[in-house]
Amino acid sequence: MRDIHHFIDGASFTGSSGRFADVFNPNTGEVQARVQLASVAEMDRAVQAAQNAFEGWSSTNPQRRARVMFEFKRLVEANMTELAELLSSEHGKVVADSKGDIQRGLEVIEFACGIPHALKGEYTWGAGPGIDVYSMRQPLGVVSGITPFNFPAMIPMWMFGVAIAVGNTFILKPSERDPSVPVRLAELMMEAGAPAGVLNVVHGDKAAVDAILEHPLVHAISFVGSSDIAHYVYQTGAANHKRVQAMGGAKNHGIVLPDADMDQVIKDLSGAAYGSAGERCMALPVVVPVGKKTADELRERMVAEIPTMRVGVSTDAGAHYGPVVTAQHKARVEGWIDQGVKDGAELVVDGRGFSLQGHERGYFIGPSLFDHVTPEMESYKEEIFGPVLQIVRAASFEEALSLPSKHQYGNGVAIFTQNGRAARDFAARVNVGMVGINVPIPVPVAYHTFGGWKRSAFGDTNQHGMEGVKFWTKVKTVTARWPDSDLEHADSSFVIPTMA
Ligand code: NAD
Repeated sequence: MRDIHHFIDGASFTGSSGRFADVFNPNTGEVQARVQLASVAEMDRAVQAAQNAFEGWSSTNPQRRARVMFEFKRLVEANMTELAELLSSEHGKVVADSKGDIQRGLEVIEFACGIPHALKGEYTWGAGPGIDVYSMRQPLGVVSGITPFNFPAMIPMWMFGVAIAVGNTFILKPSERDPSVPVRLAELMMEAGAPAGVLNVVHGDKAAVDAILEHPLVHAISFVGSSDIAHYVYQTGAANHKRVQAMGGAKNHGIVLPDADMDQVIKDLSGAAYGSAGERCMALPVVVPVGKKTADELRERMVAEIPTMRVGVSTDAGAHYGPVVTAQHKARVEGWIDQGVKDGAELVVDGRGFSLQGHERGYFIGPSLFDHVTPEMESYKEEIFGPVLQIVRAASFEEALSLPSKHQYGNGVAIFTQNGRAARDFAARVNVGMVGINVPIPVPVAYHTFGGWKRSAFGDTNQHGMEGVKFWTKVKTVTARWPDSDLEHADSSFVIPTMA
């Protein structure tokens, strides 16, 4: 049995906690490796290594840090196929989709290559008589990222790409379900020239997360995962004086107005609802057609489209999506389909009990479609995170706008229409953090920022872009004057100084 080790202080580190988690191959249902789960002492070891590396790394000039990012990008690109196959073998998404996962992370690394520009700070000459004011952004010290299973390359790179480029040293606690790619990324970061201790990977479960939350030397935590745990990390981290951003779950809606290009809508919905087996926080698991005619047409065309979708193993280049991540997750998704039936929704296409010939023990689920889903239903309120699309029929634009606006989650939303005025009005009024207009998965580009609203994100800064720079640095502002001491001495002032 292969063991997956931690990566601490520039080298593989064999833990001795005696605790492990199984890592499955979702295509076959076999246990392919076991990952070590860190103890508090092992987490402390990684934090100490990061602390030791901080002084040298933070005082390395930003251009040199950027050059490490350039080289890291080159190395990841050179190893793209190997990384994507490794990612697929633990996650289950098809290899082309794993390449997308890595590529979206690399785009944040590209942003990080421009970090000298982003860190320039602000300067005011002559803010008062002979007085100049300038501000600089300084790194925080040892910082940490805790990541989910569904994007084991992109989400770690969202975090460490910016955090390291600005001069911090980093502890990554990746998902224990697909931990191998994060370790390879740390190895490549060392090969790219980052000193030992700058990027460490410590595997684990709640015990490792709590060790991060309680460690006095960890100054900031970025978390992405499910909402209850995001809320726990946000609260506990804040109580322990840490800066925290914590992204949670999602239930993204796609609004289809009667004038939408239905050919395109069906294509966009198919990929966004079922791609990656629905295990994306920016998937579109709810579609809201406006008016009966639109709803009937959309339903009929989705029913015709679903049989053309091919579910297959991750290495099948012709497959549209692969298995879900674990047997437990498969049971959970199928449980939500059961719940939808109990709720009284109409199960139009049932993906339960799907079996892939030759891979009968893999965690495959067929595409499922519900119609006549309503906002009171439990299966509507909660995140399913599987290949299940729910049709919620709305009678008007206002009703369609209110559904995502009132939902507990507010990650992403999309509107499909050819009416620019309606789309503009929708984008301005909807109570959701990321909006797509005829774009089904509106994940912003790396130099903008990513983040949802309501229970999809706790904290006030987004991932990557300038928001990321802000999250991973603290501002210092200097007010300076250089009086000529031969000519004048200012009198003592007992009132608050002003520039009046
Ligand atoms: P998860 O919440 O189970 O795990 C996320 C991380 O938390 C993992 O590193 C895990 O080890 C750790 N963890 C698990 N249980 C814990 C506990 N009790 N205490 C402390 N830490 C714990 O999430 P997941 O199943 O890996 O990922 C799927 C979820 O992530 C979905 O809800 C999805 O919507 C969400 N997600 C959100 C975004 C976003 O940007 N909003 C992006 C991707 C995924």
